[in-house]
Amino acid sequence: MENPKSGYDVAIIGTGLGGSACGALVAKAGLKTLILEKNERTGGSCSYYEKDGFKVDIGTHMFTRGNRGPFGEVQRRLGIPNRIQFKQVHDLALMQGGGYSLILPKEAYRYPYFYYDLYRQLGIPLKEFVTVSKLFYDLVTMPDSEIEKWDERPVDEFVAKYVGKNLRLLGYLGGLLGLFFVIPFWEASAGEAIWSYKRMFGERTLSYPRGGAHRIPSVFLEAAQGLGADLLTQSRVTKIRVENGQVQGVEIEGGKFFPARAVVSTTSLRDSVFHLVGEQHFPEVYREKVRKLKKSIIAFQVKIALDRKIFEPGALFGGRIRDKNFDPTQVTLEEVKKGYQEIMEGKIPQVTMIYAPVPSNFDPSLAPPGKQLITACTAGPTTDVELEEPADKWMDEMVDAMDEMIPGLKKHMMWCDRFDTKFIANWIGKEFGPAISTAQTVDQVGKNRPLIRTPIRGLYFAGDCAGGRGVGTELAAQSGIECSEIVVADLAHGLIG
Ligand SMILES: Cc1cc2nc3c(=O)[nH]c(=O)nc-3n(C[C@H](O)[C@H](O)[C@H](O)COP(=O)(O)OP(=O)(O)OC[C@H]3O[C@@H](n4cnc5c(N)ncnc54)[C@H](O)[C@@H]3O)c2cc1C
Repeated sequence: MENPKSGYDVAIIGTGLGGSACGALVAKAGLKTLILEKNERTGGSCSYYEKDGFKVDIGTHMFTRGNRGPFGEVQRRLGIPNRIQFKQVHDLALMQGGGYSLILPKEAYRYPYFYYDLYRQLGIPLKEFVTVSKLFYDLVTMPDSEIEKWDERPVDEFVAKYVGKNLRLLGYLGGLLGLFFVIPFWEASAGEAIWSYKRMFGERTLSYPRGGAHRIPSVFLEAAQGLGADLLTQSRVTKIRVENGQVQGVEIEGGKFFPARAVVSTTSLRDSVFHLVGEQHFPEVYREKVRKLKKSIIAFQVKIALDRKIFEPGALFGGRIRDKNFDPTQVTLEEVKKGYQEIMEGKIPQVTMIYAPVPSNFDPSLAPPGKQLITACTAGPTTDVELEEPADKWMDEMVDAMDEMIPGLKKHMMWCDRFDTKFIANWIGKEFGPAISTAQTVDQVGKNRPLIRTPIRGLYFAGDCAGGRGVGTELAAQSGIECSEIVVADLAHGLIG
């Protein structure tokens, strides 16, 4: 690629969903835009690679809102509505483990049976039918003004309001609601969970894009380039230059400097503040806040190519208990807490959790004809935690568990690529490689979420580190939208540069 002209209105660091959404929208507003990506390939967590005719996601993704959420909003603002097609399948997911096996359906008419089956398999006593039903009803009908009141309270408090001291239901329903945020549900914001659950179940939009996860950032980045933005890959930003409290531009590896009136960083806040800008440029109170931010945990991943289609649902959500003598119907909140503690200590937990979308079931072109692609992950600690057992053992455990849940998996396996937590940390470039760099804990959402504007004129943070709301990729894209509005307004009002 040719060297871009110097002197940009906006330089954006990162091409994940935060950077690509923001980049496209500021370019649409007529700003001279530069987008920089350290990797050879764009997309961040939603990037991909190709192997033997399979197109494989770098991350492990399902998308909760399809075009109803921020992805649709970005396309509408760009004048390319529905360029991304979100697909659903008849059976969206098999939920299996802890003594139950349930199909999450696509169609609304199948939901009454889904709930009936759920109550039956969870053994919800008759006397709790009404309160548990009320919980599910409230989840999809609660007005947003009410939801906001739950922002600073954890998911377990919300669930306990309905199921009281029933620890089994607390463990199961809390786990279901907290799943979105890759943190323990007793730390996750109930407001954020209800808001996300209401949209995903109310609108029934859990889906996967035709063309794979990378289709989303690639549509945004193509639009940005079509609007005149320059995109440079293999360009790691090593410094955000600041003088007298005002951003000057960015320096990339090799020393080249790009002047810019505004800089948007989509790496983690700690990386931006302590590594790219330098803490001396921020007031102590701000530095202290960033130092104390909590991140989510992360995952070990395997990508499995199968020589034939052996699994029908769109995804597998499940868990396997290693101790065969343990009665899975007796899993309680305490067991779930113990499992999380084990992960935080770098130990393989007693329950191997599996989250495994099957991209080729949504879009068969992601695998050669007749073959199947499964992307799977299991929760693991961020790279600041030392593993007690080697990464390969975590992934062996995951594949063994999946082989039990998907009969014939190992027999039909063509290959299985493994990605440990260090790989993903290195790929996304965020310190210690969390799934969500500013976790959606009770004290880090809503009005307590870090702001997109910073104390430095012309410096903005977007992606999963600041602003936005919702589940992972959508949180990042929503933040990208918000950031673009702020940058455009600040530049128009002469507040920067
Ligand atoms: C295993 C896994 C499973 C997940 N599952 C889901 C899911 O099912 N559904 C969901 O919605 N979300 C999920 N998430 C979360 C979601 O992927 C992220 O929250 C979201 O995509 C983050 O977007 P982002 O734009 O903030 O950053 P990223 O996608 O991480 O992109 C950041 C980009 O910035 C680049 N970069 C960083 N530093 C520099 C630098 N110095 N110079 C240049 N470039 C730089 C990186 O290379 C990267 O491309 C999952 C995440 C993981 C890791």
